[in-house]
Amino acid sequence: MSRATSPRPASPPDSESTTAGPSPPDQPQEVDATTLLDINRGNRPSRASLVSAFVVPVLVIGQAAWATYVVCYQLAHQRLMKRDKQMGAGYAVIVLQALFIFMAGVTYMRLIQVIYTDPGLLPLGMSRAKPEDGGNDDMKAVMKRWSEKRSIIQHTTPEDARTREELFKELAAHNQRQAELRMEALKSFRPKDMFIVAPDGLPRWCKTCETFKPDRTHHCSDLGRCVRRMDHFCPWVGGIVSETTTKFFVQFLFYAMLLCIFMLATTITLFKRDNDRYGQRNPQLIALLVLSGVYTLFTVGMFQNSMWMLAKNFTTIEQRQFGMPLHLAVRISPDWYAGNVDHLSCYMVVSFASAPGEKWAIFQTDPRAKLWDLGGAYANVCQVLGKRVWEWVLPVTYSPCAKPADDVSEYPFGPAALAVTQNVQAPK
Ligand SMILES: [Zn+2]
Repeated sequence: MSRATSPRPASPPDSESTTAGPSPPDQPQEVDATTLLDINRGNRPSRASLVSAFVVPVLVIGQAAWATYVVCYQLAHQRLMKRDKQMGAGYAVIVLQALFIFMAGVTYMRLIQVIYTDPGLLPLGMSRAKPEDGGNDDMKAVMKRWSEKRSIIQHTTPEDARTREELFKELAAHNQRQAELRMEALKSFRPKDMFIVAPDGLPRWCKTCETFKPDRTHHCSDLGRCVRRMDHFCPWVGGIVSETTTKFFVQFLFYAMLLCIFMLATTITLFKRDNDRYGQRNPQLIALLVLSGVYTLFTVGMFQNSMWMLAKNFTTIEQRQFGMPLHLAVRISPDWYAGNVDHLSCYMVVSFASAPGEKWAIFQTDPRAKLWDLGGAYANVCQVLGKRVWEWVLPVTYSPCAKPADDVSEYPFGPAALAVTQNVQAPK
């Protein structure tokens, strides 16, 4: 049996029995103030994120309202219709501006609505729940007592020593409870046929949310929570781009891009006419020219990049991590597994208490493998935008990938990942 060559991270204290791998420690690990600070860090959205999430959308909406006024009143009404007597062109500019701003506004509102009501957050683990709910989230009280009595570290009186001992006992008891809850979480963990694991063969664990992370889920430091199919936190829309919001984010980008291109083309045309025929250079037109030019470059670049990632079935995080090997757990077919796993090309075999008698082979994947690429750009895009044309252009339905996962995998794996399963399935 081959072994992974990558460095192994510190194992969580809840490892279950594995046929090859670390055995679970009997005693809870020691806790110190640093560990507590690490656990406590990032459990709330940062102040900067909250401020930008509010200020930036307000600024964008204000700019869009002003730009619409300039296009519809100063360009279409004042210049095209009144001055140049081009009524058809004037009405066409007003209708197109209204259409693009309406679609951009509708997709933006849909995006904001989903960001605030269903952003794709992973539920917190029991160890983050309140004590009255059976959890262990008394971390704040422990930390408060610790900070109040921190000065005793430097003191050496017998009373300080006793207080210090009590504090460490309290921290140790808290940590033991955390370890017990993590063990319970692993017992209730329902393994799928294929899923991404940590190098030690256990499901990926978030120490802040105190829960196991499904595939493609990552911890968002801006929100302080784990997010399913997390892409990035976007200050322009004031929220997270995730499993539930990626589709509406891309649709908003599309209509915002059309709006910016239209405004830029209209402004260039009438600015040139002003300059050539009447020798005028209106300051508001110059401002709109600059603004629509900058936003056109920005939205075209963002939309192009977003569509490229949809076509490749990447999230921003996965794109950054591309080139790093992942570890894939694959359920071993009962027909194939007969007690001896030495012939498998995996580096470890694990089992879970929640699935007695079943085993998973752990493989280290090719660093360049695109595990989620379904084998074609159209299939990848449909996973987020949907299969019907109206689903691509209207912000109504959720993405197909946001539907509840089946027992096979959290998200469909592509050919690069499925090729691995041939190593552990029964020959046909
Ligand atoms: Zn988390």
